[in-house]
Amino acid sequence: MIQEKIYRMPSSVSEAINFAKSNSDSYRYLAGGTDIMPNKFQGNDQISCLIDLSKIENLRGVSAENNMLRIGALETLSSLAKNPLVIENFPVLIEAILSVGSPLIRYSATLGGNVLCENRCLYYNQSEWWRQSVGYCLKCDGDICIATQGKNACFSEMVSDTAPALIALNAKIEYEDLSGKHIVPLESIYTGDGVKPKNLPTEAIVHAILIPSDKKYRCHFKKLRERESLEFTSLTCCITADEKNNIRIVLSGVDPKPVLIEGLITDDPETLITRAVKAARTVDNDMYTRKYRREMIKVYINEGITKINR
Ligand SMILES: Cc1cc2nc3c(=O)[nH]c(=O)nc-3n(C[C@H](O)[C@H](O)[C@H](O)COP(=O)(O)OP(=O)(O)OC[C@H]3O[C@@H](n4cnc5c(N)ncnc54)[C@H](O)[C@@H]3O)c2cc1C
Ligand code: SF4
Repeated sequence: MIQEKIYRMPSSVSEAINFAKSNSDSYRYLAGGTDIMPNKFQGNDQISCLIDLSKIENLRGVSAENNMLRIGALETLSSLAKNPLVIENFPVLIEAILSVGSPLIRYSATLGGNVLCENRCLYYNQSEWWRQSVGYCLKCDGDICIATQGKNACFSEMVSDTAPALIALNAKIEYEDLSGKHIVPLESIYTGDGVKPKNLPTEAIVHAILIPSDKKYRCHFKKLRERESLEFTSLTCCITADEKNNIRIVLSGVDPKPVLIEGLITDDPETLITRAVKAARTVDNDMYTRKYRREMIKVYINEGITKINR
């Protein structure tokens, strides 16, 4: 049977949520489309109703308000990379943004879409034909994790490059669902379950990312990838230390959710590294081996703490 395809372009958040309600659970919001469309072409995402958010003007804009930098979810990564408020206040976020994809991807990709992009795995991001030939896995209607040969959990990786920088900067996410508006720490929306990596209600629309601007940080950002351009992360590491020496170490690419380690810059670096390596449930589902990426976690954190302490 041919599935009917539905495309909607609402002009307000409430209209979008109403479209969502009328399609029960069977829809996706579309922002820049650089994550969702490749997933649809590969058959990983078979939902046939797209609700395009791009005409909702109040999801755009960058403004400084109440000791916060407010970045609209629909702001593209290329526009943010040129934004004076972001450049001046959060150069580490610019580093993270410029590590995403290529100039062409960043031209369409939005910040909201980046923090919500789908988890990835070497055994999942393949064509339908490939996945069918190996027998599917827990993330796509199968009953086993091919990467671990286990039956209980999926360890697809959270691959956003901006999320580690935003979480290290104590960012919050503002979203609206059927029960109203909410503002929560960005790290709290990630579940750690590779099959369903976010705990936002399906109809939730992200309005903005809010970054406190009343703190000064020393920062470090580094991304491990096979080539310097157009490559998803195998390990992204962002470290910040504020004026009170509170340190936040955030990793992506090595666990189904961002790994967050908090401490003091005066803590023994070996202890912080051991905590990070233990927290990262890295498995062999990337071009680099599990062993190598776990070694690189140690290298990147060591490098970052040394740089911040200099
Ligand atoms: C070749 C290639 C290379 C890439 N390289 C990288 C990389 O190096 N690093 C990286 O982090 N990503 C990379 N990506 C993935 C993707 O481009 C980015 O994550 C991008 O920022 C996604 O943003 P988008 O606006 O295109 O999201 P979309 O594809 O439109 O949406 C992504 C998800 O977010 C949801 N969504 C989007 N906006 C909202 C909103 N406001 N409210 C509620 N839900 C929303 C959508 O429903 C969807 O589930 C790459 C993609 C490609 C094709
Ligand atoms: S980690 Fe396992 S279950 Fe998850 S996508 Fe990869 S192979 Fe599938």
